[in-house]
Amino acid sequence: MFSKILIANRGEIALRVIRACKELGIRTVAVYSEADVNSLHVRFADEAICIGASSSANSYLNIPGIISAAEITDVEALHPGYGFLAENPHFAEVCESCQIKFIGPKSDSMKLLGNKMATKEAMKKVGIPTVPGSDTAVKTKEDALAIAKIIKYPVIIKATAGGGGKGMRVAHNDVRLASAFYMAQSEAEAAFGIPDVYIEKYIERPRHIEFQILADAHDHIIHLGERDCTIQRRHQKLVEESPSPLLNSKLRKKIGELAVKGAKHIKYVNAGTMEFLVDQEFNFFFMEMNARIQVEHPVTEMVTGIDLIKEQIRIAAGDKLGYNQDDITFKGHAIECRINAEDPENNFMPSPGKIETYHAPGGRGVRVDSHVYAGYEIPPHYDSMIAKLITHGRTRNEAIYTMQRALDEYVVSPVKTTLTFHRRVMSDDAFLRGEIDTGYAERITQEAEI
Ligand code: ADP
Repeated sequence: MFSKILIANRGEIALRVIRACKELGIRTVAVYSEADVNSLHVRFADEAICIGASSSANSYLNIPGIISAAEITDVEALHPGYGFLAENPHFAEVCESCQIKFIGPKSDSMKLLGNKMATKEAMKKVGIPTVPGSDTAVKTKEDALAIAKIIKYPVIIKATAGGGGKGMRVAHNDVRLASAFYMAQSEAEAAFGIPDVYIEKYIERPRHIEFQILADAHDHIIHLGERDCTIQRRHQKLVEESPSPLLNSKLRKKIGELAVKGAKHIKYVNAGTMEFLVDQEFNFFFMEMNARIQVEHPVTEMVTGIDLIKEQIRIAAGDKLGYNQDDITFKGHAIECRINAEDPENNFMPSPGKIETYHAPGGRGVRVDSHVYAGYEIPPHYDSMIAKLITHGRTRNEAIYTMQRALDEYVVSPVKTTLTFHRRVMSDDAFLRGEIDTGYAERITQEAEI
């Protein structure tokens, strides 16, 4: 096992990794930007090194700065968290060439999974249903129109290098497709430096269901069930739960087995997530695989009792998974609400600033993963998520009622947060009945469908 790990991230996930390391007896090194000097991940790590100015480009994306910090502190391994450099194969290669173990998949897997279209092709080969669409990058408007003619409207244009819901556009007819095509290309170029886009059938009113994979370096792969991440705004998740109220045990088993088959086929190692869309007729389609720990991993931890961060570290250290698929049991129901410093009354506009009053909920069945406190200044430079509130109950209703009272207890002021949005969702009849699709959040906030 490693004796010292550097965490190349900030916020709640940096803190989450530090906590897992402490429980494993591993010393930790935090890196931070000038804006994060007062952050809890800096305070709770054994050592902390400033790696640059506030902007992400100068700090959490600054590869030479992070590698220097790792070398100075003599760490054996590095955990990338999510976002920033977590899925950057070049960064993983640099780590390995400096004899620093990257806690994540091999760089070859990251390269493949970074290209969503190539990944879909790989999954198709082992019989996993994928969303119908183009099998190469679509270069011209004419090609886009020809594909739409075959797969029929509505269609969605997506960036091959996509992530975070960026570079995606829906079109219902030829006229809209032409303009959406150019917009998606330029958005993809701006966000990922690669303008390539592809086209898929737009699945109407789908649910987003993903399977958590764990794979050790000894060809042993299992899944830890699903997470339902259907409640999204602009393709970004807001609420996640496990198990999905939609799946029965037969469908769960079927998709779970295919997810494992797909991960095996690409020789995946470490924690990963296979994402699927499920349509109104219960047809399911593979969308992409994420080569990192996900924001929403706690709901899986709550229902399986498995600490995913510790498993990531053990796998990177070369340990075998200590259990088989049949040993995985699911207990109760867990829900996560992402608390973002955004104003739901004002088009979810970011609301950075100083938190004057802060009170986190507690009690039975409540978990809060957060890096903020009273007096904390939310920097404007990064993602707006300030906390994840997770509840667990014996049944879905129990998890929801616990969430309702935890949301009532939660005080964050004067910055605006998504707490108000979540309070509304948790008492909404359609949500209580489990009748949701990916357009749900926008409908209840009365925004346009896309
Ligand atoms: P990203 O990597 O940017 O998060 P994903 O491919 O994971 O993008 O898609 C994010 C979300 O966009 C999905 O959860 C779903 O809501 C929507 N989406 C993506 N592809 C389709 C599709 N073919 N039909 C309908 N919705 C889609």
